[in-house]
Amino acid sequence: MSTIPELFGSLVFDDKVMRARLSSDVYHSLRDTINKGKKLDLSVANAVAAAMCEWAVENGATHFTHWFQPLTGITAEKHDSFITPAPDSHVIMEFSGRNLITGEPDASSFPSGGLRATFEARGYTAWDPTSYAFIKEKTLCIPTAFCSYGGEALDKKTPLLRSMEALDRQAMRILKLFGNADVKRVVTNAGPEQEYFLVDRDMYLKRKDLIYTGRTLFGAGAPKGQELDDHYFGAIKPRVKAFMEELDEELWKLGIYAKTEHNEVAPCQHELAPIYTTTNIASDHNQLTMEIMKKVARKHGLVCLLHEKPFAGVNGSGKHNNWSMATDKGVNLLSPGDTPYENAQFLVFLVAVIKAVDEYQGLLRMSVASAGNDHRLGANEAPPAIVSMFLGEELTAVLEAIETDSPYEGTEKKRLRLGADVLPRFNRDTTDRNRTSPFAFTGNKFEFRMVGSNDSISCANVMINGAVAEALRQFADVLENCGGDFDSCLHDLIQNTIREHKRILFNGNGYDEAWIREATEVRGLKNLRTTPDAMQMVLVPDNVEMLTRHRIYSEAEIRSRYEIMMENYVRTVRIEALTMVDMTRREILPAVMRYCGDLSASLNEKKAAVPDLDYKYETKLIRVLSGLIDGIDEAVGALEKSIVRIKGDNTQQAFHIRDDVLCRMEELRGLCDQAETLTAADYWPFPTYGDLLFGV
Ligand code: ADP
Ligand code: MG
Repeated sequence: MSTIPELFGSLVFDDKVMRARLSSDVYHSLRDTINKGKKLDLSVANAVAAAMCEWAVENGATHFTHWFQPLTGITAEKHDSFITPAPDSHVIMEFSGRNLITGEPDASSFPSGGLRATFEARGYTAWDPTSYAFIKEKTLCIPTAFCSYGGEALDKKTPLLRSMEALDRQAMRILKLFGNADVKRVVTNAGPEQEYFLVDRDMYLKRKDLIYTGRTLFGAGAPKGQELDDHYFGAIKPRVKAFMEELDEELWKLGIYAKTEHNEVAPCQHELAPIYTTTNIASDHNQLTMEIMKKVARKHGLVCLLHEKPFAGVNGSGKHNNWSMATDKGVNLLSPGDTPYENAQFLVFLVAVIKAVDEYQGLLRMSVASAGNDHRLGANEAPPAIVSMFLGEELTAVLEAIETDSPYEGTEKKRLRLGADVLPRFNRDTTDRNRTSPFAFTGNKFEFRMVGSNDSISCANVMINGAVAEALRQFADVLENCGGDFDSCLHDLIQNTIREHKRILFNGNGYDEAWIREATEVRGLKNLRTTPDAMQMVLVPDNVEMLTRHRIYSEAEIRSRYEIMMENYVRTVRIEALTMVDMTRREILPAVMRYCGDLSASLNEKKAAVPDLDYKYETKLIRVLSGLIDGIDEAVGALEKSIVRIKGDNTQQAFHIRDDVLCRMEELRGLCDQAETLTAADYWPFPTYGDLLFGV
């Protein structure tokens, strides 16, 4: 048994391994590529590939794959073995620089949203040297981007890398104005906290809804849910503990900094928080984390549910995307500093984020839209569907003071002069943790809480990076042309930005009905309740302009993403609806009818034996159940008809689902759940909410 430091990163071709196995020249060329994006030449690639192959084979690998993130949301890999024929019918293990740098997966069945006609179906993958290669199941995995031959991005990594570059370009302009001569680069960081559910695998296998859709489509509430809050941070059960221990080990081997694990609010819900890292790597790591969670769960007789809403009436799962910007010198740009000058710089970046979130609230909401997440956002739990920002009391007071040129009512009452005064120290731990805020400042980072548990974090980060890059670009345009008085120019810029965008700031309770009204009617904020609504945002001309200006997406790429997202939504709900029909007709109705039939038979026997009694309860129950059976039959018929009407282009289909299919599903579910509460437990065809939620 090796120690944790030995274990950590043991399956990663990381800096330590590179240093040990590459010649000094090769190592430094590669480092230049990683750090500065310099082009890699083939001789270096060949040397790196040879070292990688040798290392991978020593560590048990037999195959290699270009590992990438197509637009389906999962990761994809196609394995090739290292085996190369050699003379005398021998084989050698070989891997060339060319194999490392590019690959051509036969990718015709990955969605491209019209970007790639099938006759030119082959996209290509290109090595992303900034994310280390790793070994997973005897396979050397090389993180790659996936593009069409026309150069259009067909994956989630490419736009993320582009958005990081956009933010770097604009943030550097601002830093230069503040005289940071030593800074070479600005990077964005992310620490995604991942929520998940664990259920017993034997029970899972008895529910078609869980198998086909990842969530329960039926199920009456259990007598006990999460109301006692006794699960939150409670003692971890032995079976779950064993799962977490193995999960940690597997993640550590891959160099993933799994740091804290605890129980969440709902029964059988848990959370894993990693230590933050560069967004691109955080995104790769989060994809791997989700995959490994599922794999390890199986080994423990469990199933890991990553759906946003596996159970109705119980909190769903999200991902809290902690986000910040930092220089290559490790200075966090969202951290208030110790000098007046650092503080002024902090305020510029802070108000840039405020402006970005306000102006691109539609894109942020869009970036987390999915059929699953629709059940969470706006459903009186997690964050609401309206994007707003929480800054905490102290920082809000500072901004108010700047906005109105009035004294800051802090510990000592005085006027704040930008560039001359030091900001008060914000005590990180006293910032009230506003759990309902979609976008909260938590001391030196923002926490974007709307991301769905099953989603890749890349789209959310692309939109945050892009929006902030645009705000910084506009700021730099102003500040670079201040003329003499930089300080007053800066003051006006910050003050105007606060005035224009303070409507997005909200420190109150986001679940409140009054807030929904104020946000939409008074402040004019967007309330996008469903995926089809949210997806329209990506087509809004201002948004397209921003994304293309910063070269994050081309117009064709935006259009293709729109089509894929709408299609995904349609497919997801359609599968759910079909699963409901199947379960209703083949499991639920037969069970209720059998129970009702048995009741009737026994009632007849009793009536024959003792004719002078009323048998009131039994008679009533048979009546109610028979009524429900007819009601269920009608509802399932209506759902079937509605499914048939899913027609037209992706947009028409998605809106039909939003307006018709979903409410029919809900109606059917209501009746079936009612039948469940009236049917004897041993007749019910699959495990109940109580079984699932308390069965681990
Ligand atoms: P909190 O108590 O506010 O939730 P934690 O320190 O527990 O903060 O961190 C929560 C998550 O935020 C972790 O995944 C952590 O790595 C991440 N995080 C912390 N600092 C930063 C930062 N500067 N940038 C991005 N993510 C961060
Ligand atoms: Mg947190």
